[in-house]
Amino acid sequence: MATPIVSNEPVCEIDLEAEGKHTGYVRIQFSSDRSAYGWQPVPIMSIKNGDGPVAVVVGANHGDEYEGVSVTTGLFRDLNVEDVKGQIIFLPALNAPAFYAGKRTSPLDESGEANLNRMFPGVQNGSPTQMICWWVVNRLLPKVDAVFDLHSAGKSIDHHPSVKIRLIGDPEKDALQMKFLELFGAPLGIVGDRVTETTFSSATARREIMYLSTELGGAGKIRPWIRDFAFNGTKRCLREMGILPAAMALPDPEHKVALKGMQSGDNYIFAYEDGMFEPVVNLGDVVEDGQLAGYIWNLKAPWKDPAELHFKKGGVVFCKRTPALCEVGDTLFFTLSDYEG
Ligand SMILES: [Zn+2]
Repeated sequence: MATPIVSNEPVCEIDLEAEGKHTGYVRIQFSSDRSAYGWQPVPIMSIKNGDGPVAVVVGANHGDEYEGVSVTTGLFRDLNVEDVKGQIIFLPALNAPAFYAGKRTSPLDESGEANLNRMFPGVQNGSPTQMICWWVVNRLLPKVDAVFDLHSAGKSIDHHPSVKIRLIGDPEKDALQMKFLELFGAPLGIVGDRVTETTFSSATARREIMYLSTELGGAGKIRPWIRDFAFNGTKRCLREMGILPAAMALPDPEHKVALKGMQSGDNYIFAYEDGMFEPVVNLGDVVEDGQLAGYIWNLKAPWKDPAELHFKKGGVVFCKRTPALCEVGDTLFFTLSDYEG
């Protein structure tokens, strides 16, 4: 298949039907002052070996989430063609323009802050971020049985690591997804009960594709203990799907997963003052309703009493703002409550 040089839709350089190991780019046409006839490179790799289930492993859906990039590239380098039955497609930096810029959101769209995970199902010949979403929905998902979308929190937030699924109403697929929660090896597991229309999750739900997402820490860095269980956990899930051989030796899940429900507004603490955020609890702590969470200090009047922050709804501390400086409207914490499924 000859690759068209210019197209009004994204072009995948590699043939996703080809057997073996392949690397290349999904080209996103992007005409700029710097490069009139240029395209933006979104890296893609494939390992295909005969017929069987097809899984996609995704990193950097948000460009400053590095753990998923490490896991995705590590898996591609680690696995051999003969390990695979079916296909694994790797998109290590889905929002590649944001990843290259060291940003959560893409600087190339007109807004300068395009959040890929709120732009599904995309536009065929739209902005770079819309085009990436369109290609995923229209050219990739029709081939796919399961998506592993490896998020973390990015630079501004840190998460106690978790794995999440959302049920799709197919008993067989939902049972397998519940199994993924155990196998992944994260301390927290979330069973989602809501789907935002413009997310990758919703794009897969419309096609009844299994979808697992994660929060693998964050704060703009990679922690080995998190990266390692996510690497093994993704392999354990691929083995459970039959893509990797049942005989492949893998460690048992590194953590016994505690199942949690989706949060409500009462699980959040937002900043209502500008200032210096001082937390007094750690990620993973179990906190009570009303417990002290931290303070916000006035930068220019440090002799004043700080504003006190309290958890409205207790649970496990799941998310915490990373930078100490905060402004009105910033999320400082949220907790997760126990799952009542
Ligand atoms: Zn993310």
